[in-house]
Amino acid sequence: MPHVITQPCCGDASCVYACPVNCIHPTPDEPDFATAEMLYIDPGTCVDCGACVTACPVGAIAPIHRIPEGQERFTAVNAEHYGDQPPSVARFPVDALWRKPLAPIGKPKAFDGLPDPMEIAIVGSGPSAMYAADELLKHSQVRVTMFERLSEPFGLARFGVAPDHKATRSVADLFNTIAAHPRLQILLNTHIGTDLTLEQLRADYDAVLWAGGAPTDRRLEIPGVDLPGVQSATSVVGWYNGHPDFREAAPALTGDRAVVIGNGNVALDVARILTADPNRLADTDIALEALAALRGSTVREVLVVGRRGPEHGAFTLPELIGLADGPARVWVDPADLTDVDVAALDSREDAEKVALLRELAARPQPAAPFIRLAFGLTPQEVRGAERATGVRFVRTGTDETVDVDASLVFTAIGYRGRPIPDLPFDDANGTVANVAGRVTVDQEPVPGLYVTGWIKRGPTGFIGTNKTDSRETVDHLLADADAGLLPRRRTAVGA
Ligand SMILES: Cc1cc2nc3c(=O)[nH]c(=O)nc-3n(C[C@H](O)[C@H](O)[C@H](O)COP(=O)(O)OP(=O)(O)OC[C@H]3O[C@@H](n4cnc5c(N)ncnc54)[C@H](O)[C@@H]3O)c2cc1C
Ligand code: SF4
Ligand code: SF4
Repeated sequence: MPHVITQPCCGDASCVYACPVNCIHPTPDEPDFATAEMLYIDPGTCVDCGACVTACPVGAIAPIHRIPEGQERFTAVNAEHYGDQPPSVARFPVDALWRKPLAPIGKPKAFDGLPDPMEIAIVGSGPSAMYAADELLKHSQVRVTMFERLSEPFGLARFGVAPDHKATRSVADLFNTIAAHPRLQILLNTHIGTDLTLEQLRADYDAVLWAGGAPTDRRLEIPGVDLPGVQSATSVVGWYNGHPDFREAAPALTGDRAVVIGNGNVALDVARILTADPNRLADTDIALEALAALRGSTVREVLVVGRRGPEHGAFTLPELIGLADGPARVWVDPADLTDVDVAALDSREDAEKVALLRELAARPQPAAPFIRLAFGLTPQEVRGAERATGVRFVRTGTDETVDVDASLVFTAIGYRGRPIPDLPFDDANGTVANVAGRVTVDQEPVPGLYVTGWIKRGPTGFIGTNKTDSRETVDHLLADADAGLLPRRRTAVGA
C-alpha cells in the first residue's frame, strides 16, 4: 500500500530526503526537477514507512487508503509518472538505497573560516527569505536580521496563495518555526529603500541577501485596458487576501460575467474564489470585506481564456485536478476541444490535462455561478466607453473576431520583477543580475551582495522551489565568507 503525493505539493523536496528508498522523483539533482509540476512517489518502490508524511510541510502526502476526498486521481498520477518501467531494482540499483542524491537537509557543509559572529541581512520575509534563513542558521556563528516592508511576514505564502488552499497556506507553520529561531529577528514595517537604504545594510552587515520577490503583473498591452472594470489578478488576489496595498481594489461584482485573461494557476485561483460558495470560504483566511462582497456578488460565469489551444493550458495538472474534482463548478465547451493538436503535446502532463478537459467537456453545463475554460482566443481590445463592457478576441491564428460581454476583466498573464534602486537589473529576465545567487555587474560578483527567490530566477515555480534556490545562494554566500571574500562591516550589529 504505497503513499501518494497530492495537489498541495509545492515542490520543496523535503520528502525526497526523508525517504529511505529513494522512491520520490524528480529529486533536486535530476534535470526535470526545475520544470516538474509536483513530485511523485513510485508505487513499486515505496515501502510505506510514512517518513515522507512527517517531512512534508503542507500535508500533501497520504497513504493510498487515506487519500482525501477529491484527491483520488493522484494515485494514478503518481504511478503514471513512472510509466510501465519495472519497479525498484531496475531503476534504483541496490546502492541507491543508501546513496542519497544530495547531502541530507539538516546536515550543513562545514565551513571553518566563517566570521564569528556573522551578521546577515535578508530583505523580504517570503518563502525564499525563510528558506535562506533556515539554511544560514544551521551555522552557529550566523545571526540573521530580516527586513519586511509589510506588517505581516511570509510574502506571497500569506498574501498570494488562495485562501481555500488551506494545506498550501499551512506552510506558514513551518515558516513560524523558522521565525522562532533565537538567532533570527524579523523587523516588520521596514522598507529597504525608504526606511533604511541598501547601502546602510551593506555597511552594517557582513552580507545582504535580497529576497524581495517579483510581484508586478505583466501589463496586457491592448486598447481599453485602462478602463474601469479592468484590473490585474495581483490586485484582486491582494484584495481577497487582505494585502494592505490592495484594500481599495474591490472589484464591482454586479454584472453577469467576468473574464480572466490568461489561464495559469493564478487565473484559476481568481476564478475559483469568484465562483465559490461564500459559506465554504467563511472558515478560510479570506479578508472579511472580500467575503461580504462575494456574498452579494451577481456574477454567474467566470470565463478563463487562454491564447493557445487546450493542449497548451498554462495551469498545472495538479491545479486542474483540484479544480475538476473539488467543489468548484467548471465546464469546457466541447467545441473548444475539437482542434486539439495531439502531436504537439510536450509531455505526459499535457496529455493528462487534455484528457481531463475532455472529461469536463462531457459534463453538462453546471448551474451558476460556474467557471468556463476557453482556449485559442487572443485578446484584441477591452470594449466599453465609460467602463469595460466586454472583450474583443480573435481566434488565435485567424481573423475571426469573437466578442464576449463582461462587466469585469482580470488580467493574469504572469509576473515580472521591477528594477530595484542600487541593484544591477537584468532587463531581459526581469531579475536582479546574478550568477547562481551572487549579484553581478558585468558578470563580476559584487562582494557581500546576494539574491534569491523570484527576483533571482524570475517568477516561476512553487513555494518549495525557493528552498533549492535559496540553498544554492546560501551555499555561495557561505563559501565566499569562508574564503574571506566578504567586505568588512562598519559596526558590530547590536553591539
Ligand atoms: C497569486 C499567487 C498565488 C500563488 N499560489 C501558490 C500556491 O498555491 N502554491 C505554491 O506552491 N506557490 C504559489 N505561488 C508561488 C509562490 O508564492 C512563490 O514561489 C513565492 O512566494 C516566491 O517567494 P519570494 O520569497 O521570492 O517572493 P515573495 O513571496 O513575493 O516575498 C517577497 C517579500 O519581500 C518583501 N519586500 C519586497 N521588497 C521589499 C523591500 N524593499 N523592503 C522590505 N521588504 C520587501 C515583500 O513584502 C514580500 O513579503 C503563488 C504566487 C502568486 C503570485
Ligand atoms: S512512505 Fe516511506 S518509502 Fe514510501 S515514499 Fe514515503 S518515505 Fe518513501
Ligand atoms: S510539498 Fe515537499 S515534502 Fe510535500 S510532497 Fe511536495 S516535495 Fe514532497
